[in-house]
Amino acid sequence: MGAALEEKVTQAVRQHDPGRAPWVLHLEEATRGRRVVIRSGRDVKSWAEKFPTPEEVRPSSCQRCGAASRPLGGLLQLHGHGVRSRQVRGPATPTGPPELRVTSVRRYLCTRCRATQTVTPREVLAKRLFSAAAIALALAFFGVTEMALSEVRARISPWVAVGATAAAGWVSLRRWVVAVREGRLFAVRAAPTTWTARQVAARAAMTLAARAPVRPGTDDVVANAFVGALSG
Ligand SMILES: [Zn+2]
Repeated sequence: MGAALEEKVTQAVRQHDPGRAPWVLHLEEATRGRRVVIRSGRDVKSWAEKFPTPEEVRPSSCQRCGAASRPLGGLLQLHGHGVRSRQVRGPATPTGPPELRVTSVRRYLCTRCRATQTVTPREVLAKRLFSAAAIALALAFFGVTEMALSEVRARISPWVAVGATAAAGWVSLRRWVVAVREGRLFAVRAAPTTWTARQVAARAAMTLAARAPVRPGTDDVVANAFVGALSG
C-alpha cells in the first residue's frame, strides 16, 4: 500500500460516519449479564486528544433494563462510575507496525438494575485486547492475502513470538476464526463446518470490507476491512 492509500485509510477511519453526531453510541455485539460494552463513534486518537466528559458519552438509556439515563423531570439513573484503562493491541493503520496502546474508557452504573456499562473508543471490542481493526486486518491477511500464520502474527501482535509459543502458531488468530465461524464476532454469518480456517477468515474480511461506508482502497480488501471493522 502506498502513501496515498495510507492517507486515504486514515481519512476514512476518521470520517467514515460523517452523518452521525460525534458521540453516537453503538451497542457492542450480544451482551448478557451485568456488564455492557458500548463503542462510541470516535476513535482512540480522538479520545486521547480530548477525553470525553461523563456527560458527552453517557448512554441515553441503560442497555440492560432500558431505564432512561436522564428521565424528564427525574433523577439521573445512569451515574458516572469512574474511568478504567484498556489495552488496544495491533497496528493503528493497515500498514503500520504493531502497537500496544492504552486508552481510557468511561464506566456508568445503572441505579435501577445495577448493571455496569463501559463506553469505549470505537476500536475496542468487548472481551478482546486487540482492536477491531487489527482483528479484521489479521483475518484479511490470513484469509485473503493468504499470508503464513507467523507473518500475520508479526504484522499484528506487538510481541515477538519465541520458542514453543511460536511453534504452536498463534492462539489469538485461532480464537478469532473460531468466534467468526460460530457467528460470535463482528456479527458475521456463521460458516459451514466444512470450511477451512482460511475460508472462514476470507469471508469475514470481505464482509467487513463491504461494511466500510468510505472505501479507501477500491479493490483493496485489506484496507477496506480495516475501516469496515470500525463500523458500529
Ligand atoms: Zn439498568
